[in-house]
Amino acid sequence: MKKDLILYVVIPCYNEEEVLNETTRQLKEKMEALIKNKKISSKSKVMYVNDGSKDKTWELIKDINKKEKLFTGISLSRNRGHQNALLGGLMTAKNYADIIISMDADLQDDINAIDEMIDKYNAGNDIVYGVRSARKTDTWFKRTTAEGFYKFMNMLGVEVVYNHADYRLTSKRVLEELSNFREVNLFLRGMFPLVGFKSDKVYYERKERFAGESKYPLKKMLNFAWDGITSFSVKPLRMICNVGFLVLFISICIMLYALIQKIIGNTVSGWTFLTISIWFIGGLQMISIGIIGEYIGKVYNETKQRPRYIISENLEEK
Ligand code: UDP
Ligand code: MG
Repeated sequence: MKKDLILYVVIPCYNEEEVLNETTRQLKEKMEALIKNKKISSKSKVMYVNDGSKDKTWELIKDINKKEKLFTGISLSRNRGHQNALLGGLMTAKNYADIIISMDADLQDDINAIDEMIDKYNAGNDIVYGVRSARKTDTWFKRTTAEGFYKFMNMLGVEVVYNHADYRLTSKRVLEELSNFREVNLFLRGMFPLVGFKSDKVYYERKERFAGESKYPLKKMLNFAWDGITSFSVKPLRMICNVGFLVLFISICIMLYALIQKIIGNTVSGWTFLTISIWFIGGLQMISIGIIGEYIGKVYNETKQRPRYIISENLEEK
């Protein structure tokens, strides 16, 4: 177990003036207890990331920073959205910390899971995912859509941790590696499994937001889900090709049907030709689009310039 482990807790905040004081109070208690129990170094801090808030969030963060040396902050030049704000915070915090935990400002994620996260880090894990064991406080709609989304992503071949949002502990080296992922459309919870290393999970119950309202209205949520799918899977492009083949197959059936009708004499003149043509050309076009899609998918993956491998241990350096 490493002595004097410096922990930074990174918290993106967008218009969170209503919750910041209470969040600060609870986190102060938690951090002080952790420091007292020698679980983390006294150099540990909570880093608030102001994501271009329109209210007094940044003033509040500066105030808190003045009063409490446990709290610090950075401010983005404008609102860039949760994922970008979080990445900005993680990339800044990794310069000062050994381990970094990310969470939301509203403390919906149980801060008591932090102890177990640190234990699992000490047991040799580089990433510890916080997983929601129950979603009792979420509405039926949010729960069903969210869980459906995780299942759908897995179906598309994207590795995401079921019911894990952005509450996680990572080691410094994971973030160093993450900084080599050059993509602009961020879906962080899909990227960490790609980074790899040994990981574990911690289960907790998700609570209700104690003040203010969700900064993720349905529209943002749908955009986020769509981003997740299109940033991680080219399967939708491949589906076009499959549908094309299906249509082509149907066109053969239709051809037989149309010819039989013609032989029986059940048709007006020109019908057979038109019917067969429409189906056949439709299928052909779809396959062509699918083939172009295949190449676009390749180009897309190349432009992301993700690292092709990450070395976890090198015996030469021991
Ligand atoms: N957030 C942010 N920028 C945004 C939207 C949200 O930094 O543009 C932060 C927000 O302050 C909170 C976290 O992202 O700390 C999650 O937002 P929220 O709790 O509203 O989402 P929900 O829990 O409802 O999904
Ligand atoms: Mg929330």
